[in-house]
Amino acid sequence: MTRRPEADYDVIVIGGGAGGVGAALGAAKAGAKVCLVEKYGFLGGAATNAQVLAYCGFFQQGGEPRQAVAGAGEQVLEALRGLGVKAQPYHSETTGNWIVLLDPERLKVALDRLCAAHGVDVMLHTRLAAVARTGNRLEAATLAGMDGRSRIAGEAFVDASGDANLALVAGLDFRVGDEERRLQAATMPVRIGGLDPDLKIDRNAIKAAVDTYNERAEFKINRSDGGIYTRVPGSSDFWWLVIDREMADLGSRTFTRAEQSGREMALLLVDVLREKVPGFERAWLAQTGPQIGVRESRHPAARYEITYDDVVGGRQREDGVARAAWPIELHKEAGKPFYQSIGADGFFHVPLDAVTARGLDNLWYAGRVVGADSLAYGSIRVMGTAFATGEAAGTAAALAAEAGKAPDAATVRARLIENGAMI
Ligand SMILES: Cc1cc2nc3c(=O)[nH]c(=O)nc-3n(C[C@H](O)[C@H](O)[C@H](O)COP(=O)(O)OP(=O)(O)OC[C@H]3O[C@@H](n4cnc5c(N)ncnc54)[C@H](O)[C@@H]3O)c2cc1C
Repeated sequence: MTRRPEADYDVIVIGGGAGGVGAALGAAKAGAKVCLVEKYGFLGGAATNAQVLAYCGFFQQGGEPRQAVAGAGEQVLEALRGLGVKAQPYHSETTGNWIVLLDPERLKVALDRLCAAHGVDVMLHTRLAAVARTGNRLEAATLAGMDGRSRIAGEAFVDASGDANLALVAGLDFRVGDEERRLQAATMPVRIGGLDPDLKIDRNAIKAAVDTYNERAEFKINRSDGGIYTRVPGSSDFWWLVIDREMADLGSRTFTRAEQSGREMALLLVDVLREKVPGFERAWLAQTGPQIGVRESRHPAARYEITYDDVVGGRQREDGVARAAWPIELHKEAGKPFYQSIGADGFFHVPLDAVTARGLDNLWYAGRVVGADSLAYGSIRVMGTAFATGEAAGTAAALAAEAGKAPDAATVRARLIENGAMI
C-alpha cells in the first residue's frame, strides 16, 4: 500500500450493513488497512437494526438452489454456521425464492468476529458527519462518536450507508426514489413471542385477524394475504412483515411519524391476534425496530446505472464485478409487492462502473447505494447481493489505495476471484 503519511487508513467504509461488511472484508483481503464506521452499536445493517431476518440474493430463483454469491458473503454464512445457525437455503412458499434465515444476535457476533479476524478497525456508535474534499478527491471523514468529533484521513472511501450519507455530505448529485421521486414503502417487521413451539399457524386465521384489525385501526394494513411470516430460527417466535408505511420524503419528521404509527399498529395487531387467533392467546410483542426498515432513499450519481433491461435480460459482461440474482421486487404501493424474474441464466452482472461514484475519484458504492434505475434497484438492494457489491467496492478501493489510481475492471475482477468471490 502507498498510504500518504497523513492518511490514517487505506480504506474508510461508512456503514456496517451487508454492503459495508462486504466492503471492509474485501478491502482487508486485498491488503488494505481498513476502518469500518457504524452508527449503531452492532454490525449487520437492516438484518440487525430492522429485523430483516433473511438473506436474499445468495441463490438464484428456481427448483434447486444455485449459488450466486461466495467470497465475503460465504464467509459470513460460514461464521453463522460456526455459531450454530443452519444458514442453509430455504425455499420460500410465499415468493418461490431461496432465502437464508437469520438469528440476529448470532449474526452480530459472527460479523464482529469476522471483522476482527481480518484486522478491520471497527468503530461502533460512530456516525459520519462530514467529509473533507479537495477537488475530486475525498481526503478525510469527520465522525461524531461517543468521544465527540474526530477526523480520520483515508486514501479511498466506500459509501455503504444505505442512505448514501457519504455521497450526500460530499455534495454529489443524487436522485431520491424513482424517476418521479416516489419512494418505495418502508416496512416495520415485528417479532412476536409467547407461541407454542408446535403450533401450526393457520394463514386463514391470520388473514381474518388482519381484517378485524383493519375494522378497528386508524392506520390500515394493505396486505390482504396476511403478509410474509415465518418462525425465527432457533426460537418459537413469530416474525411478520405486514406493517407498511408510505414515505412521502426523507425528512426526520416523516420518519418519526412512520416509526410512531408503525409501533401503534404493531401493538394493536398483537392485541387482535391474542383475541382472535387460536394458539396466540399468550402472544406478546417481543420487538419492533430498533428502526423501521427502509427500502429506498437516495441514489447518488454512479458511473453507470444498471437498467431494467440489464436485469430482465440477465446481462453478463466483461466488466462485471459481482453477480446479482434476486428478482426485481418493488413495493411502490404499501403492502402490494411486485416481482419480475431475471432472464437468461438467472443472474446479471453488476459492472465496476455501477459501484464507482461519478464526481469523485476515490469513492465507491456498496449495497443499496449502487447505481441502478428504479426498477433494477428492486433487484440489487438485497443483502446477499450487497455482500457481493460491497466486496467489489472494497476491493476496488483497496487497489486504488495501493496503486494511487482507480483500478480497471479486469484487475478488480481478477483480485476478487483470487479472494474467493463468484462473478
Ligand atoms: C422491510 C424490508 C424487508 C426486506 N427484506 C429483505 C430480505 O428478506 N432479504 C434481503 O436480503 N433484503 C431485504 N431487504 C433489503 C435489504 O434489507 C437492504 O436493501 C439491505 O440491508 C441493504 O444493505 P446495505 O448494507 O446497503 O444497507 P443497510 O443494511 O441499510 O446498512 C447500512 C448501514 O449504514 C449505517 N449508517 C447509515 N448512515 C450512517 C452514517 N452516517 N454513519 C455511520 N453509519 C451509518 C446504518 O446504521 C446501517 O448499519 C428488505 C428491506 C426492508 C426495508
